[in-house]
Amino acid sequence: MSDNWKKRTQLVHGGIRRSQYGEVSEAIFLTQGFVYDTAEAAEARFIETGPDEFIYARYGNPTVRMFENRMAQVIGYEDGFACASGMAAVNGALMALLKGGDRVVASRALFGSCLYVLEQVLARFGVEITLVDGTDNAAWDAAITEGTTLVFLEGISNPTLEVVDLRHVCERAHAVGALVVVDDAMATPVFAYSKQCGADLCVVSTTKHVDGQGRMLGGIICGSQELIRGPIETYVKHTGGAMNPFAAWTHLKSLDTLDLRVRAQAAGALQIAEWLETHPKVGKVRYPQLPSHPQHAVAMTQSPSGGTVIAFDVNGGKEACFRFFNALELFTISNNFADAKSIVTHPATTTHQRLPQDQKDVLGIGPGLVRLSVGLEDVTDLIADLEQALDQA
Ligand SMILES: *Cc1c(COP(=O)(O)O)cnc(C)c1O
Repeated sequence: MSDNWKKRTQLVHGGIRRSQYGEVSEAIFLTQGFVYDTAEAAEARFIETGPDEFIYARYGNPTVRMFENRMAQVIGYEDGFACASGMAAVNGALMALLKGGDRVVASRALFGSCLYVLEQVLARFGVEITLVDGTDNAAWDAAITEGTTLVFLEGISNPTLEVVDLRHVCERAHAVGALVVVDDAMATPVFAYSKQCGADLCVVSTTKHVDGQGRMLGGIICGSQELIRGPIETYVKHTGGAMNPFAAWTHLKSLDTLDLRVRAQAAGALQIAEWLETHPKVGKVRYPQLPSHPQHAVAMTQSPSGGTVIAFDVNGGKEACFRFFNALELFTISNNFADAKSIVTHPATTTHQRLPQDQKDVLGIGPGLVRLSVGLEDVTDLIADLEQALDQA
């Protein structure tokens, strides 16, 4: 029955496990280990661990399992393995599936730490990495050849919000037998579309919209039961990337309100993006739901929403941009996104500071670029703050 529930219902009830006390709110099992009645029972559990049985919290825990089942259901996959952070999930998925001699094709516009895992870690073990422009279907077609093992991409890139034509990439990858892994922080679990477009695995930094209130690091790898309870679980449980039960519990509490929060944030983002486009001190505005977005058409076939993050250029370069940042009263200067509090980030000098200039140029990360994460405040207040700060830019 729960498979037929709408997302809002799944977010509140999915994957629930109740103890003998019948608690209403999900229990937090803050335990590393589990007790066996007899030596024979311990032996039996180590031979085969049943679906509601646990051995050690690095392998699995009832609170963490609730979170895994609920997240997998919400974004449309059979199962999930929860991890200590989004990067533990990315690293876990890639290290579990790849070996020396394999060939990976990835989009160029990746989160910095993901680029590190691909170019510095996996390359050291003899994995061949090819980076392409994720918005160019012909470039994907040319790069994904026979012998490609895995394709890795961000469905909507950070910070410039490039949108990949995921159906096209999945078809091409599957034609040569490659797995597709999507790093899906921007799309949000509410508007997630990777499964419908054919992705084999979806990795989510739950630090972003799922926590959404600036408290917890977390991540999850979702996919088929075969992959998740096979190579993914085996690698992550032995290498220490598991999520802790307290993080899983706060994440579960956050999922109750995820749909309401994300829809409110996305509605605010659209309103702000439209307003920014009319402002004389603002250059290019990048938001997938605006008709001016280069991949607007394909973005709208994948998701009904443009999400909670906007990228735009302040005219006048770094100096004008910093004057704008320092004049903001309501927006917080920080480097996370998807929080209840609205955040501005200057990628060129913070999150993407280390990127060589030629790569910044290719990705469009200029000195005036602002990444704006829209929170849960009243949109009228947010626009008033942007207006007074832009006046001072
Ligand atoms: C934030 C982010 C990560 C890393 O997540 P953490 O929870 O910070 O480890 C990976 N990929 C993308 C696209 C992200 O936005």
